[in-house]
Amino acid sequence: MNKLEHIGIAVSNLEAAEQLFAQLLGTASYKREEVASEGVITSFFQVGNVKIELLAATHADSPIAKFIEKRGEGIHHLAFDVDDANARMAELSAAGFQWIHTAPKDGADNKRIAFLHPKSTGGVLTEICEDKG
Ligand code: ZN
Repeated sequence: MNKLEHIGIAVSNLEAAEQLFAQLLGTASYKREEVASEGVITSFFQVGNVKIELLAATHADSPIAKFIEKRGEGIHHLAFDVDDANARMAELSAAGFQWIHTAPKDGADNKRIAFLHPKSTGGVLTEICEDKG
C-alpha cells in the first residue's frame, strides 16, 4: 500500500455530519458524490494528506444503512492507495485474504476500488483504491 488515502465514516444525516466535521476539522467538505451501485452519498474533506469520506445511505438496503443498524454511526473503513488494484488484489488473494468484491469497481473520487472482508483483516473493513488518473 502506498499510503492511507481516506477514512470512511458512516453517518445517518449527511447535512448534520457535514456541519459537525466542518467545525471539527476547520475545513468545509469539498465535494459530494453519489455512488449509486453502493447506495451511498459521499462527502469529502481534505485534512493534510488524508481525506475523510462521510458515507450516508440512499436507501434502506444500502450497506451503510445496514452498518449503522448493527453498529451505529462511526468509523466504517480505512482506504489505502495502490498503484494497480488488480495486481494488489491478486497478491492479497494469493496470501489468503478474502474480498467483498470479486474485482475492482468504480468508486467515488475517480477511483477503482475493492473492499477486503473484515473477517480477514482483523475486523477492520479495508478498501484498496487506485486513482484512475
Ligand atoms: Zn472509501
